[in-house]
Amino acid sequence: MSGGLLKGARERWVRTGGVELCVAELGDSERPTVFLVHGYPDSKEVWSEVAVRLAEHFHVVLYDVRGHGRSTAPTPLRGGFTLEKLTDDFLAVADAVSPDGPVHLVGHDWGSVQAWEFTTVERTRGRIASFTSISGPSLDHFGHWIKKRMTRPTPRKVGQLLGQGAKSWYVYMLHTPVLPELAWRGPLGKQWPRLLARVEKVPAGGYPTPSLPSDAAHGAWLYRDNVRARLSRPRADAHAHAPVQLITPTGDMFLSPKLYDDLEQWVPSVTRRTVAAKHWVPRTRPDQLAAWIGQFVRSVETPADKALAVPAKRGKRADAYAQRFAGQLVLVTGAASGIGRATAFAFAEAGARVVAVDRDGEGASRTAELAALIGAPEAWGEQVDVSDEAAMEKLAEKVAAEYGIVDVLVNNAGIGLSGSFFATTSEDWKKVLDVNLWGVIHGCRIFGAQMAERGQGGHIVNTASAAAYQPSKALPAYSTSKAAVLMLSECLRAELAGQGIGVSAICPGFVNTNITATARFAGVDAEEEKRRQKRTSRLYGLRNYPPEKVADAILGAVLTNRAVVPVTPEARGAHLLSRFTPKALRAIARLEPPV
Ligand code: NAD
Repeated sequence: MSGGLLKGARERWVRTGGVELCVAELGDSERPTVFLVHGYPDSKEVWSEVAVRLAEHFHVVLYDVRGHGRSTAPTPLRGGFTLEKLTDDFLAVADAVSPDGPVHLVGHDWGSVQAWEFTTVERTRGRIASFTSISGPSLDHFGHWIKKRMTRPTPRKVGQLLGQGAKSWYVYMLHTPVLPELAWRGPLGKQWPRLLARVEKVPAGGYPTPSLPSDAAHGAWLYRDNVRARLSRPRADAHAHAPVQLITPTGDMFLSPKLYDDLEQWVPSVTRRTVAAKHWVPRTRPDQLAAWIGQFVRSVETPADKALAVPAKRGKRADAYAQRFAGQLVLVTGAASGIGRATAFAFAEAGARVVAVDRDGEGASRTAELAALIGAPEAWGEQVDVSDEAAMEKLAEKVAAEYGIVDVLVNNAGIGLSGSFFATTSEDWKKVLDVNLWGVIHGCRIFGAQMAERGQGGHIVNTASAAAYQPSKALPAYSTSKAAVLMLSECLRAELAGQGIGVSAICPGFVNTNITATARFAGVDAEEEKRRQKRTSRLYGLRNYPPEKVADAILGAVLTNRAVVPVTPEARGAHLLSRFTPKALRAIARLEPPV
């Protein structure tokens, strides 16, 4: 039994090719075997957080690559780390822990580079059921990628080459003799944990392990023994013989996502996923990785789940949404109608798990049912008034306990109120601020705190309005509530930036939803209010801007982490005016409303 980060793991030693490999196993060995291969400079403990999550459902196997962690190093070091020898090691461990069945491979960084070799050479055929690659390309594919860009260079291709070339600075350094070893065994080794914490936001807690300096010194041979040789003479037959899931951290400082543009030519079936994070995702995003790995493994083991793992071909945009949001937990308020409902559906189509929240419980349940039909693997309807703090607290507790921590929160519930300032009573003000502002505050405070505490990133979207920056004498209370939401979003964005949590404010103009039929008009009798609601509904109907387009803007805002997103041409126009000629907006603010 092992202690430290892999507490309770069963340990064994596998002898192969002159080295002894330290192997750890977790979970029931009767279940499908998942192999986690670590990268550089690392040891198997980099996987500890992912391993414990996967061990609930799978037989999880980790080993220290030769020369790393507690595995012994080859002598001499030079020539001891070739991809051929690393493949021998993999087969020896696989034969020891899973002699009768193929294994599901997962590799990060150099673990992924070697696992690409395992998955594309003939002698491992039948031993690999699937491969999840994270932040480590096949050297053969990379070699062809470079060749293709050198032979018929276009400005775009040269740009891609230079871009990746700049990210590969450390590869050149590692090819210099002796110096990397001196650095790692000296100051760099000492500083590394602090660097990881500062630059990559890797949480402390026993990682990296004390073997880091020697892992890094030995591991330099991974580069020296393989990189130059393979990149200059890449194999022509490096085709994968197992399905591949490619997880790409979009903020990886070492690898450009463009590297994988030609992947389909090498792999019969690729499931692509993107995660808004930096390089060390096994430490910073264990929940997301474990969920995607588990889902992929199940889809291969149980072909009925296949539809989940390999989305049908759709547009580029829809593909990008599916790659990012599949399996994520998304909570949308005001989801029974209009923009909220369309947003819940858009996330469902992308394969997200959806919690539809509304004070209209029946409507929320209907949205959830339809979301499940459209593509959400799971969907729930919850009846909650967002202005009720205690109810929101209770909802957050229930969601965390039963569905998980929310990855994307959309605070969208809102109500309309028209009427001059003096016609608006303090009761009217209270109602509007309670829902439009306090509802958003409760959502951000309660669900945002859970997100921040988990420490694995996330995103908050607040539905503001073009009214947030466009004054109007007809909408003082509504516009004030939305301006507050906009500013709240900006402040929170600044506060959460360091924790990988994005915040976006969505500012639609006139959108054809139910809001016009339910909006209140202050200072008029019931009959006049009805007449005005009808008239506004007709005008918005004529404008006919669909809520689905706002939903699309919301998914896009999360994908690219945009701060303020005006939607509809009039909202974009007003946004420009507010920045460059606010005087013009002030003049428009004085016009009589068309009701
Ligand atoms: P909608 O009326 O179609 O939908 C709003 C939903 O919010 C409804 O299902 C309603 O039941 C729910 N809701 C209202 N108060 C709630 C509360 N206290 N707790 C829980 N749920 C509550 O309206 P919509 O146009 O889809 O509006 C969505 C958001 O978009 C609102 O914040 C609105 O201010 C904003 N917005 C709308 C427009 C537009 O032109 N429609 C323009 C800019 C901004």
